[in-house]
Amino acid sequence: MELIDIKSMNEHELQEFMLSLGEKKFRAEQVYQWLHKKLVTDFEEMTNLSEALRGKLKEKCRLAALTAERVQVSQIDGTSKFLFKLHDGNLIESVLMKYHHGNSVCISSQVGCRMGCRFCASTLDGMVRNLTPSEMLDQIYRIQTISGERVDNIVIMGSGEPMDNYDNVIKFLELINAEKGLNISARNITVSTCGLVPKIYELADLKLQITLAISLHSPNDDLRKTMMPVANKYSIAEIMEACRYYINKTGRRISFEYSLVEGVNDTKECAEQLIKLVKGMNCHVNLIPVNPIKERDYRQSEKRAIEDFKNKLEKNGINVTIRREMGRDIDGACGQLRKRFMENE
Ligand code: SAH
Repeated sequence: MELIDIKSMNEHELQEFMLSLGEKKFRAEQVYQWLHKKLVTDFEEMTNLSEALRGKLKEKCRLAALTAERVQVSQIDGTSKFLFKLHDGNLIESVLMKYHHGNSVCISSQVGCRMGCRFCASTLDGMVRNLTPSEMLDQIYRIQTISGERVDNIVIMGSGEPMDNYDNVIKFLELINAEKGLNISARNITVSTCGLVPKIYELADLKLQITLAISLHSPNDDLRKTMMPVANKYSIAEIMEACRYYINKTGRRISFEYSLVEGVNDTKECAEQLIKLVKGMNCHVNLIPVNPIKERDYRQSEKRAIEDFKNKLEKNGINVTIRREMGRDIDGACGQLRKRFMENE
């Protein structure tokens, strides 16, 4: 019998489920609290339920509690990287970053990824499967429990392409935002995509107040195709149009991520093309010094080139920041830890 993924249910679904078990509706609220507020990992801990109900839940449901296989703490900046094991043995990674404005957790949305971006370690072995809403939630729940730190912000920027696992990601957003759960506001959540255009429109129509980040990495299609296979499917013009639609619908500013690779996309011409592309738009450009992975020969741009690139954008009135590198000593970039761990086992 397939076990029921109880932590992926919203309160209404949980009520229906309790009724189907012959239980009173109010039990749903109790169970919901145990799962999403008290963050328990075992039905036995739900002490205000009858033993019979606990027994039924245990028999029919999976609690989707992740186990921490490894935790690495950066000596440089206190960033922690977590390698979690899922119930089927698959491994995923998540990161806790401490900033002065609060704690951010970066979560994965899939096991592996099928987008094939050239600079990214998550995609080297392809995609294994989508994560369920509960598995996305539990990355945050476990990090909060293990670290004892409150999670303030969430970025869906770990392994996987969230728009390739759209329904589960939307359900996750509903649950993490729920008043009876951790109640993390949409404004404190960022979803990052390599640009699956139809899904950007769908997301815009939901009018959530989340931040949408677009992994652009190149200001023209020819170059983008050499870095990101998804560029063969959707052009930059189509992405920009979808972004304008998103801004109009939600009133939110868009973020563009641009990982700088030496001699590839950090040139004067690239800066000028990027300026043309985003000038006048309600957006922010995040420059990321590429984190080199050993499987590829991409090198990080010189500090000077990064500064020059930033200054050019700034002179044109574009909001731009250089992302501080976090966890450089602990396989900080997407998919690096999982990959290394699997190779060594
Ligand atoms: N699939 C989503 C989210 C995951 S990646 C997306 O494409 O946006 C999160 C961000 O990190 C993306 O902008 C991605 O392109 C970038 N990234 C991945 N590997 C990197 C690396 N080695 N160095 C710098 N940025 C990287």
